Amino acid sequence: MKEYDVAIVGGGVTGASVARELSRYRLRIAVFEKEEELAFGVSKSNSGIIHSGTQNQPGSLKAKLCVRGNLLMRRISRELGVDFKEVGSLIVAFTEEERLELLKIKKESEALGVPGLRMVDPAWLKKHEPNLSDKAIAALYAPTTGIVSPYRLVYALCENAAGNEVEFHLGSKVKKIISLPAAENIPRFKIFTSKGDFRARYVINAAGLYADEVSKMAGVGGFEITPRKGEEFLLDKKREHLVNHVLYPLPTKISKGILVIKTSDGNPMIGPTAHDVSDKEDLSTSDEGLREVLENVKKMIPTIREDDIIAYFSGLRPVAGHDFIIRHEAVAPGFINVAGIQSPGLTSAPAVALMVRDILKDNGLSLRKKIFFHKYRRKENHLFSIPFEKAGKLIKKDASYGDIVCRCEMVSAKEIRDAIDRGATTLDGIKFRTRAQAGRCHGSFCTARIMKILAEKTDKPLTEITKRGKGSEIVKEERGND
Ligand SMILES: Cc1cc2nc3c(=O)[nH]c(=O)nc-3n(C[C@H](O)[C@H](O)[C@H](O)COP(=O)(O)OP(=O)(O)OC[C@H]3O[C@@H](n4cnc5c(N)ncnc54)[C@H](O)[C@@H]3O)c2cc1C
Repeated sequence: MKEYDVAIVGGGVTGASVARELSRYRLRIAVFEKEEELAFGVSKSNSGIIHSGTQNQPGSLKAKLCVRGNLLMRRISRELGVDFKEVGSLIVAFTEEERLELLKIKKESEALGVPGLRMVDPAWLKKHEPNLSDKAIAALYAPTTGIVSPYRLVYALCENAAGNEVEFHLGSKVKKIISLPAAENIPRFKIFTSKGDFRARYVINAAGLYADEVSKMAGVGGFEITPRKGEEFLLDKKREHLVNHVLYPLPTKISKGILVIKTSDGNPMIGPTAHDVSDKEDLSTSDEGLREVLENVKKMIPTIREDDIIAYFSGLRPVAGHDFIIRHEAVAPGFINVAGIQSPGLTSAPAVALMVRDILKDNGLSLRKKIFFHKYRRKENHLFSIPFEKAGKLIKKDASYGDIVCRCEMVSAKEIRDAIDRGATTLDGIKFRTRAQAGRCHGSFCTARIMKILAEKTDKPLTEITKRGKGSEIVKEERGND
């Protein structure tokens, strides 16, 4: 039975960040992910904001890790070739009472170490955010807020971790964990998965919405995960310059409110709602959600129209009380919970990874640095994000860059083949990596061609090509030419 030093349950941004951080050390590390591909959990459906740290409860873990994560994300993005754009954000006030609230947020955030905060007036807003309602009387400007593609970040972290010898077991659901008697004070676990059994000295539970269930497998109770649904609506790229910053209203008790978001791929996004639900798989969107989002964002940007919306989705925040739960569990020595990673979990991930590293060290894991840690990753080419002349040069070098498969998002056959070489095995995996199928036509033009490329490259029949893993096949049976 294969044995690892550290087993990580969950291949979202938390598990990926921990895996990449630990891959600096001489350790045998495995990530177990139940889905067919990485980043198919909460990490695929969020707003992609690297928050500055202005809206967290002072004294909370979230507050500390968010500010630190924001800082670390810049270096990590540079090393991994991930597009991180520091666009800045505005929390907008419409009444004198809200303006006073902003002053309070500013003071608390400065105490947390959020840099560069300043109050801006209507004249500043008119100049820098011309589509903002002229009813806004002030805003709190946070220059360090950034945006990334959340799934491309996870893929980059995992690709780099794999290059540094982390093993990824995909489609491997952890079903049972047994704590074995510790040998020489070193803990041991037996991990039963849907694809075989393994041993590990330490287990990191980064299972997102299912972290409560995985924790119970190791005999650790004490918290439940409640899914808090956020519905989000993506606007057409023709509205790309609708906003120049991420716009927040004043935060509510349970969320940062409903935002107008500049995204790393250009389409503005509006949302998310925040409502607790009972089903961990309920990713439905609703007319009420749409109404709630439109009503709220129109207060900030009155020109947003329903027919600007080209796509919608929802995500579920894994909520376990008000804060993250990141701790070594003394009742199961060697078991570390990283649970309740709701927002700002994307931002905090690099700081969470450092915290987990320190917890492992404090609990007996010896951390010896590898002589060669490959910290850089070769960045992939995306035609949609490079200047025309560079695209021309690429096409001259390799004609398949000129073979455009997705016309809405300008994605070539070469990019799709590269995505498959880098690990995509499903249509969604290709969409998240390349944006093919993410445009206005929702893949009606390109899906058949992408399926063909996927079938050819993976040597599978079309009937085995899926949207997001088993049970989501597109074609029932292949028909001949007759
Ligand atoms: C609508 C919305 C908007 C958000 N916006 C932002 C934002 O702008 N900025 C920000 O910082 N944060 C944001 N967040 C929060 C952020 O998305 C999450 O905190 C983060 O993605 C959590 O990552 P994770 O890796 O902990 O969980 P996940 O991404 O869910 O990863 C957990 C993984 O564990 C796997 N798993 C579960 N059970 C098992 C098992 N038994 N065996 C094997 N694998 C298992 C799952 O399949 C999953 O892939 C938002 C969240 C939502 C819902």
